[in-house]
Amino acid sequence: MSSLRFQVIGEAFKKQPLDVVMPTKRPEEYYGVNVFNKASMFKYLPGDVYRKMVDIMENGATMERSMADIVADGMKRWAMELGATHYTHWFHPLTDTTAEKHDAFIEHNGKGGIIEEFEGKLLAQQEPDASSFPNGGIRATFEARGYSAWDPTSPAFVMDDTLCIPTIFISYTGESLDYKAPLLKAIHAVDKAAVDVCHYFDSAVKKVYSYLGWEQEYFLVDEGLYAARPDLLMSGRTLMGHGSAKDQQLEDHYFGAIPERVQAFMKDLEVEAMKLGIPAKTRHNEVAPNQFELAPIFEETNLACDHNMLVMTLMKKIARKHGFRCLLHEKPFAGVNGSGKHNNWSLGTDNGHRLMSPGKTTEENLMFVTFVVNTLAAVYRHNGLLKASIMSATNAHRLGGNEAPPAIISSFLGKQLSDLLDSLENSSSDDLFKIAGKAGKKMLDMPQIPELLIDNTDRNRTSPFAFTGNRFEFRAVGSEANCASAMIAINSIVAEQLVMFKKEVDALIASGMDKKEAIIKEVQRLIKFCKPVRFDGNGYSEEWKAEAAKRGLDCQTCAPEVFKYYTKDETVSMFESVGVMTKAELEARNEIKWEIYTKKVQIEARIFGDMAINHIIPVATAYQSQLVDNVYKMKAILGDEGEKLSASNIELIKKIANCVHQIEVGVTELTDARKVANRLNSEYEKALAYYNTVVPKMEAIRYHIDKLEEVVDNALWPLPKYRELMFIR
Ligand code: ADP
Ligand code: MG
Repeated sequence: MSSLRFQVIGEAFKKQPLDVVMPTKRPEEYYGVNVFNKASMFKYLPGDVYRKMVDIMENGATMERSMADIVADGMKRWAMELGATHYTHWFHPLTDTTAEKHDAFIEHNGKGGIIEEFEGKLLAQQEPDASSFPNGGIRATFEARGYSAWDPTSPAFVMDDTLCIPTIFISYTGESLDYKAPLLKAIHAVDKAAVDVCHYFDSAVKKVYSYLGWEQEYFLVDEGLYAARPDLLMSGRTLMGHGSAKDQQLEDHYFGAIPERVQAFMKDLEVEAMKLGIPAKTRHNEVAPNQFELAPIFEETNLACDHNMLVMTLMKKIARKHGFRCLLHEKPFAGVNGSGKHNNWSLGTDNGHRLMSPGKTTEENLMFVTFVVNTLAAVYRHNGLLKASIMSATNAHRLGGNEAPPAIISSFLGKQLSDLLDSLENSSSDDLFKIAGKAGKKMLDMPQIPELLIDNTDRNRTSPFAFTGNRFEFRAVGSEANCASAMIAINSIVAEQLVMFKKEVDALIASGMDKKEAIIKEVQRLIKFCKPVRFDGNGYSEEWKAEAAKRGLDCQTCAPEVFKYYTKDETVSMFESVGVMTKAELEARNEIKWEIYTKKVQIEARIFGDMAINHIIPVATAYQSQLVDNVYKMKAILGDEGEKLSASNIELIKKIANCVHQIEVGVTELTDARKVANRLNSEYEKALAYYNTVVPKMEAIRYHIDKLEEVVDNALWPLPKYRELMFIR
């Protein structure tokens, strides 16, 4: 009897929501208490150092080395008051997780005792022995050491007993080994390029910020049921499992009442997030059963990326406190929606221009159109790269699955903005000026523009890169990905495009054209150029795939091939021109992407083989033997009549025998396919072999396992089933 399965189901049913100790304070009182933010800096740092830190954080001023000691001392005193005994450099290696190595503050005091110390040099830089992090050969080629260096633009925070210092992770020779270093460079590049373009409209603009508001989807599963699924435990998704009779077809989960036990978890999560300065705002049920979402208010992109990594850590940690496991995998269950992350992205200036929001005046709207059109041009030019930036072994299950954005990057603008671009494209700038003259209004008048009130509800859920009124929403990002990957790509390509735009407009001005006329002319050219990437129809349809291919958009779905976009000539020259990554860094990163792809599929294939052989087959054959025994006995006591009445059982015996046979043969082939792939030398070829031979083999075997689940005695089945995993909370 499968006692474990029934035991964990029974326990899961009995679980009551944990009493959440509700903070007696209002959010504004506990928001940011665990962050070394401006308020704590003001309290713990001398006035001049405080002002300098604010200048660094807000304007990117450079830090003098001498300041680090003073900041470190203040930071230490602040952290110790919160109970911290350790510190760590917190960084984002290329594994989509965060890394930390904790050191205690203690030092010998020379008198047989200890003191707690934290010097500037420990804050500013460290050499973690991180030789096991993926580096794509960079550290072998260049220099073995890797350094973490303080990022003062993202505030330090205290988690449990540890002061965490956000850092970048680079090699001795300066190559990036993480997500944060290129992200900071991309943010700087788009700032610089966008400020230059802003100066056509407002010479007072000093800085352009990149903003990110992510929405994080996730599943919760009861901890006991999770523990009884080796596949969930090791690969984060179910590798087998027959669909539940009821799943999301009634659409009764989406936005439904949040189950009590889940609500208690969410409350706890939000309080902890708020304490870390993460402005958690929205929570709701998602489409699939047991699927939920959390979204904060948008923030500056670097901070938002850090906050997303922190929230994912908190989700996993707090879920356990409530007897749940949090699944961040993009596709934990076949047949129902997977989880993604929507990255809402926009640009805004230090003096209040929201560059992706329509304004009130013609001037503001020309500025708005300029930035929107440049973004579209960049997305068109680099649509393959944008897809590469969100592609992974796990997200590949979700893309194109008729629930998530398709594996073709296009942009939905909504009727109003589409109409506007169409009419702008077709009017000659002469016309525009004539209209202006007649009306005797401003120098330039585009009658449609000043009244722009882009409708926020005009949505197209099938578009991977949709304009949503005041921002673009990049919906193809994977739920467990580091947001930085997508944000490096989008900010870099837009930076490159804005630089090109300025060059063209300046050339027109130099040839004697009026500034505004020149801007309109170039905007019109770009509207024509980026047309193929605009698509307002159904992104899930087969017709779109054919149409997109005709338009020259990238339609590749094979993950190892998609990664190649990072090393295409146009990508390398783009990243190098904006100073974000070099060819060597890009090549190294691709090695890592292929390696991680291979390892993820390899792990899945191993667990899958194990489970097939030692969970499924023994149970199926045991049940088959029971049936055989029954048929024999029926015949013994009832003779021919017994045999006749056993006809369907005999069919069932054959069915089980056939499935078991297919599974056994399949697993042998699966193991062989792995062995062949493992012998290949290049990371690319290995990943491709896993994609072509191992992935489809697992799918084929799964079919037979899921068939067995349908017919084998429920009491014998060793694994919690979909209906149990998704409905018991
Ligand atoms: P929906 O599910 O309708 O897309 P949500 O309210 O769940 O919307 O999430 C929208 C996200 O977009 C939030 O994080 C929000 O703060 C963010 N956002 C809103 N305006 C902007 C903007 N101008 N730039 C970047 N992000 C934004
Ligand atoms: Mg959204």
